[in-house]
Amino acid sequence: MINKVMEYLIELFPNPKPELNYNSDFQCLVAVILSAQCTDKRVNVVTSTLFRDYPDSVSMQKLTQTDLEKLIYSTGFYHNKAKNILALCKVLNEKFNGKVPNDPEVLETLPGVGRKTANVVSSALFGAKKLGVDTHVLRVTNRLGLVDAKTPLEVEKQWTKKYPQFVNHDSHFRLVLFGRYHCKAQNPNCANCKLSGECKFFKSKNL
Ligand code: SF4
Repeated sequence: MINKVMEYLIELFPNPKPELNYNSDFQCLVAVILSAQCTDKRVNVVTSTLFRDYPDSVSMQKLTQTDLEKLIYSTGFYHNKAKNILALCKVLNEKFNGKVPNDPEVLETLPGVGRKTANVVSSALFGAKKLGVDTHVLRVTNRLGLVDAKTPLEVEKQWTKKYPQFVNHDSHFRLVLFGRYHCKAQNPNCANCKLSGECKFFKSKNL
Protein backbone atom coordinates (compact mmCIF):
# COMPACT_ATOMS: atom_id res chain seq x y z
CA MET A 1 0.00 0.00 0.00
CA ILE A 2 2.65 2.54 1.02
CA ASN A 3 4.65 1.87 -2.14
CA LYS A 4 1.60 2.34 -4.35
CA VAL A 5 0.79 5.63 -2.59
CA MET A 6 4.30 6.99 -2.87
CA GLU A 7 4.63 5.89 -6.50
CA TYR A 8 1.44 7.77 -7.28
CA LEU A 9 2.62 10.87 -5.45
CA ILE A 10 5.88 10.75 -7.41
CA GLU A 11 3.85 10.44 -10.62
CA LEU A 12 1.76 13.48 -9.65
CA PHE A 13 4.66 15.55 -8.30
CA PRO A 14 7.88 14.26 -9.87
CA ASN A 15 10.04 17.25 -8.94
CA PRO A 16 8.51 18.97 -5.95
CA LYS A 17 9.94 22.44 -5.60
CA PRO A 18 9.57 24.62 -2.53
CA GLU A 19 6.74 27.08 -3.01
CA LEU A 20 8.29 29.48 -0.49
CA ASN A 21 11.03 31.77 -1.80
CA TYR A 22 14.28 32.11 0.15
CA ASN A 23 17.99 32.53 -0.44
CA SER A 24 19.54 31.31 2.79
CA ASP A 25 18.94 28.97 5.74
CA PHE A 26 17.84 31.93 7.86
CA GLN A 27 15.35 33.11 5.25
CA CYS A 28 13.99 29.58 4.92
CA LEU A 29 13.34 29.44 8.66
CA VAL A 30 11.66 32.85 8.74
CA ALA A 31 9.55 32.05 5.66
CA VAL A 32 8.30 28.81 7.27
CA ILE A 33 7.44 30.70 10.49
CA LEU A 34 5.52 33.29 8.47
CA SER A 35 3.67 30.58 6.56
CA ALA A 36 1.71 29.47 9.65
CA GLN A 37 -1.97 30.11 8.90
CA CYS A 38 -1.01 31.84 5.66
CA THR A 39 -0.61 30.90 2.00
CA ASP A 40 2.88 30.52 0.53
CA LYS A 41 1.88 33.03 -2.16
CA ARG A 42 1.17 35.72 0.42
CA VAL A 43 4.38 34.92 2.34
CA ASN A 44 6.37 35.32 -0.89
CA VAL A 45 4.86 38.76 -1.47
CA VAL A 46 5.85 39.83 2.05
CA THR A 47 9.34 38.31 2.01
CA SER A 48 10.20 39.81 -1.39
CA THR A 49 10.50 43.14 0.43
CA LEU A 50 11.47 41.87 3.89
CA PHE A 51 14.39 39.73 2.70
CA ARG A 52 15.56 42.37 0.23
CA ASP A 53 15.95 44.95 3.02
CA TYR A 54 16.72 42.64 5.97
CA PRO A 55 18.38 39.54 4.51
CA ASP A 56 19.91 38.08 7.70
CA SER A 57 19.42 37.80 11.43
CA VAL A 58 21.77 40.72 12.18
CA SER A 59 19.92 43.23 10.00
CA MET A 60 16.49 41.91 10.95
CA GLN A 61 17.23 42.18 14.67
CA LYS A 62 17.61 45.93 14.23
CA LEU A 63 13.93 46.27 13.38
CA THR A 64 11.55 47.38 16.10
CA GLN A 65 8.59 45.18 16.94
CA THR A 66 6.24 47.79 15.43
CA ASP A 67 8.18 48.09 12.19
CA LEU A 68 8.40 44.33 11.72
CA GLU A 69 4.69 43.99 12.45
CA LYS A 70 3.95 46.47 9.67
CA LEU A 71 6.12 44.55 7.23
CA ILE A 72 4.54 41.15 7.92
CA TYR A 73 1.03 42.35 8.77
CA SER A 74 -0.70 40.62 5.87
CA THR A 75 0.53 37.14 6.87
CA GLY A 76 -1.75 37.18 9.91
CA PHE A 77 -0.90 36.67 13.58
CA TYR A 78 1.64 39.42 12.94
CA HIS A 79 2.10 40.43 16.58
CA ASN A 80 3.24 36.99 17.74
CA LYS A 81 5.16 36.30 14.54
CA ALA A 82 7.09 39.58 14.86
CA LYS A 83 7.80 38.93 18.53
CA ASN A 84 9.06 35.42 17.81
CA ILE A 85 11.15 36.43 14.80
CA LEU A 86 12.91 39.19 16.74
CA ALA A 87 13.57 36.83 19.65
CA LEU A 88 14.78 34.23 17.16
CA CYS A 89 17.23 36.71 15.58
CA LYS A 90 18.58 37.57 19.02
CA VAL A 91 19.20 33.92 19.96
CA LEU A 92 20.72 33.10 16.57
CA ASN A 93 23.06 36.09 16.78
CA GLU A 94 24.06 35.55 20.40
CA LYS A 95 24.35 31.76 20.49
CA PHE A 96 24.73 30.49 16.94
CA ASN A 97 26.78 33.14 15.18
CA GLY A 98 23.74 34.03 13.06
CA LYS A 99 23.48 30.49 11.65
CA VAL A 100 20.52 28.12 11.71
CA PRO A 101 21.51 25.11 13.83
CA ASN A 102 21.71 21.82 11.96
CA ASP A 103 19.80 19.84 14.57
CA PRO A 104 16.01 19.48 14.74
CA GLU A 105 16.04 19.08 18.53
CA VAL A 106 17.96 22.34 18.94
CA LEU A 107 15.83 24.08 16.31
CA GLU A 108 12.72 23.20 18.25
CA THR A 109 13.99 25.13 21.26
CA LEU A 110 14.19 28.40 19.28
CA PRO A 111 11.51 31.10 19.59
CA GLY A 112 8.60 30.55 17.20
CA VAL A 113 9.86 27.14 16.09
CA GLY A 114 7.48 24.28 16.81
CA ARG A 115 8.00 20.65 15.97
CA LYS A 116 6.55 20.89 12.46
CA THR A 117 8.74 23.87 11.57
CA ALA A 118 11.84 22.22 13.05
CA ASN A 119 11.18 19.04 11.06
CA VAL A 120 10.39 20.83 7.81
CA VAL A 121 13.38 23.14 8.00
CA SER A 122 15.92 20.53 9.14
CA SER A 123 14.82 18.02 6.50
CA ALA A 124 14.73 20.67 3.76
CA LEU A 125 18.04 22.33 4.60
CA PHE A 126 20.10 19.55 6.14
CA GLY A 127 18.48 16.33 4.93
CA ALA A 128 17.41 15.33 8.45
CA LYS A 129 15.33 12.15 8.61
CA LYS A 130 12.25 13.94 9.87
CA LEU A 131 8.66 14.24 8.66
CA GLY A 132 6.98 17.61 9.04
CA VAL A 133 3.28 17.05 9.71
CA ASP A 134 0.91 19.88 8.89
CA THR A 135 -2.84 19.83 8.43
CA HIS A 136 -2.55 18.33 4.91
CA VAL A 137 -0.24 15.52 5.99
CA LEU A 138 -2.47 14.81 9.00
CA ARG A 139 -5.55 14.56 6.78
CA VAL A 140 -4.27 12.56 3.81
CA THR A 141 -2.30 9.99 5.79
CA ASN A 142 -5.39 9.28 7.90
CA ARG A 143 -7.77 9.22 4.93
CA LEU A 144 -5.60 6.71 3.14
CA GLY A 145 -5.44 4.56 6.28
CA LEU A 146 -1.64 4.77 6.37
CA VAL A 147 -1.86 5.89 9.99
CA ASP A 148 -4.61 6.09 12.56
CA ALA A 149 -3.73 9.26 14.40
CA LYS A 150 -5.46 12.29 15.82
CA THR A 151 -2.52 14.64 16.22
CA PRO A 152 0.49 15.63 14.10
CA LEU A 153 2.83 14.09 16.67
CA GLU A 154 0.97 10.76 16.51
CA VAL A 155 1.18 10.82 12.70
CA GLU A 156 4.89 11.52 12.87
CA LYS A 157 5.52 8.69 15.33
CA GLN A 158 3.42 6.12 13.48
CA TRP A 159 4.77 7.12 10.07
CA THR A 160 8.38 7.05 11.25
CA LYS A 161 7.95 3.58 12.74
CA LYS A 162 6.03 2.08 9.81
CA TYR A 163 7.62 3.80 6.81
CA PRO A 164 11.17 4.83 7.75
CA GLN A 165 12.16 4.86 4.07
CA PHE A 166 9.73 7.73 3.51
CA VAL A 167 10.80 9.94 6.40
CA ASN A 168 12.30 12.80 4.43
CA HIS A 169 11.51 16.18 2.99
CA ASP A 170 10.40 15.01 -0.46
CA SER A 171 7.81 12.67 1.07
CA HIS A 172 6.58 15.46 3.35
CA PHE A 173 6.38 17.84 0.44
CA ARG A 174 4.54 15.43 -1.85
CA LEU A 175 1.99 14.66 0.89
CA VAL A 176 1.46 18.40 1.38
CA LEU A 177 0.99 19.00 -2.34
CA PHE A 178 -1.36 16.01 -2.60
CA GLY A 179 -3.47 17.47 0.20
CA ARG A 180 -3.31 20.99 -1.15
CA TYR A 181 -4.25 20.26 -4.76
CA HIS A 182 -5.79 16.78 -5.00
CA CYS A 183 -7.04 15.28 -1.73
CA LYS A 184 -8.41 18.61 -0.50
CA ALA A 185 -10.19 18.98 2.83
CA GLN A 186 -13.41 19.88 1.02
CA ASN A 187 -14.25 18.08 -2.23
CA PRO A 188 -11.31 15.71 -2.60
CA ASN A 189 -10.79 14.68 -6.21
CA CYS A 190 -11.72 11.03 -5.62
CA ALA A 191 -13.18 10.60 -9.10
CA ASN A 192 -9.71 11.06 -10.58
CA CYS A 193 -7.66 9.42 -7.85
CA LYS A 194 -5.71 6.24 -8.55
CA LEU A 195 -5.78 5.41 -4.84
CA SER A 196 -9.56 5.16 -4.48
CA GLY A 197 -9.38 1.35 -4.55
CA GLU A 198 -7.28 1.32 -1.40
CA CYS A 199 -8.41 4.51 0.30
CA LYS A 200 -10.08 4.01 3.69
CA PHE A 201 -11.94 7.33 3.45
CA PHE A 202 -13.24 6.64 -0.08
CA LYS A 203 -14.42 3.17 0.86
CA SER A 204 -16.22 4.44 3.95
CA LYS A 205 -18.13 6.97 1.80
CA ASN A 206 -19.07 4.45 -0.86
CA LEU A 207 -20.29 1.46 1.12
S1 SF4 B 1 -9.68 8.54 -2.99
FE1 SF4 B 1 -10.27 10.62 -2.41
S2 SF4 B 1 -9.99 10.73 -0.19
FE2 SF4 B 1 -8.86 8.94 -0.94
S3 SF4 B 1 -6.78 9.70 -1.31
FE3 SF4 B 1 -7.87 9.86 -3.25
S4 SF4 B 1 -8.68 11.95 -3.27
FE4 SF4 B 1 -8.11 11.49 -1.16
